[in-house]
Amino acid sequence: MKVLVAGGAGFIGSHLCARLLREGHTVVCVDNLLTGAERNIAPLRAGDSAARFTFLQRDVTEPLDSAGDAADALAAIDAIFQLASPASPIGYWNHPFETIRVNTIGTTNLLEVARKQGARLLTASTSEAYGDPLVHPQREDYYGNVNPIGVRACYDESKRLGETITMEYVRRRGVDARIVRIFNTYGSNSQLNDGRMIPNFITQALSHQPVTIHGTGEQTRSICYVDDLVDGLMRALFTEQTTGQVYNLGNPEEQTIKQWAQRIIRLCDSPSALVFEARREDDPERRRPNIEKARTQLGWEPRVTPDDGLTRTIAWFRSEMEREGVCLPARAG
Ligand code: NAD
Ligand code: UDP
Repeated sequence: MKVLVAGGAGFIGSHLCARLLREGHTVVCVDNLLTGAERNIAPLRAGDSAARFTFLQRDVTEPLDSAGDAADALAAIDAIFQLASPASPIGYWNHPFETIRVNTIGTTNLLEVARKQGARLLTASTSEAYGDPLVHPQREDYYGNVNPIGVRACYDESKRLGETITMEYVRRRGVDARIVRIFNTYGSNSQLNDGRMIPNFITQALSHQPVTIHGTGEQTRSICYVDDLVDGLMRALFTEQTTGQVYNLGNPEEQTIKQWAQRIIRLCDSPSALVFEARREDDPERRRPNIEKARTQLGWEPRVTPDDGLTRTIAWFRSEMEREGVCLPARAG
């Protein structure tokens, strides 16, 4: 198949492109590099599958059919993953209007490509669609508890509107689309300094700096290794009879932020101590996906344990930090 991955130079998108190429697909990666990096896709442009991989540096909020010299690459698309959007709180706080535009206008443009070319499409939404949830764990039929004027709203509300637009294209324009709500995901190719919990804790622990906890650290998150998540994305797009469905994708193993920090310090053999800072505004207190629907309809569930996934991720962060010239202290253990 010929598959368009919008946001393919980002953290999750680059892993998805690699998986699609491994399975023999032709991949067109469209990314404006707002929060992604060409480095993430460099191996894909150089490897054995390079002839099946095209990178287009484009903004998906611009209509994709005025593609000019990219017209060939964007013709005869069979399937589309819409992953383009800043994802970390720092990413969307730095780019609120870009975030709103890409999750609404960008998603619409990609749905238009799907409509015109008869392609199937997956819209990447988020656990943030549930806001600070009052129902726990979160099932897909929970409508959420979102502050529409809060500091996270540019992300939460634009993702929710992106879901609405996707469903109208399913109902009124006959597009074969589905939605996934992704819960916190981690792994290689994430930005070292994107401010999220896992990159922060690993870089702090590896450099023996204090590990920064926002608030009490009693708030919870459930974290999913990127290979598992990508497997869920593939199943959601390619499984038949998923049109118009919404799936939670995440690892239900829930821990407090303090527990994740302590686990990362242990896995890094680090002497770092915890320091407590101000709680983030509108920070959700608890988050854990109910994945029964993905389990029964997609045959999907996460397979990588947090210790395995974090160990692999720490090794990648260590080599990236060394590549960037960060002088890491020797291990404590
Ligand atoms: P990321 O920032 O690493 O990747 C997003 C990519 O989209 C980047 O490469 C960026 O340059 C690109 N992009 C942004 N605006 C664009 C535009 N207008 N045109 C073209 N490209 C554009 O983020 P990620 O963690 O890989 O997230 C991928 C998707 O998954 C996002 O939609 C995000 O909201 C969703 N998601 C991620 C997580 C997570 O834990 N990583 C959780 C929930 C949802
Ligand atoms: N967090 C923290 N210290 C950090 C970064 C994040 O305590 O250095 C907390 C953050 O306040 C939130 C949780 O970790 O409660 C997850 O934050 P992240 O930015 O990874 O993603 P979110 O789930 O909030 O989108």
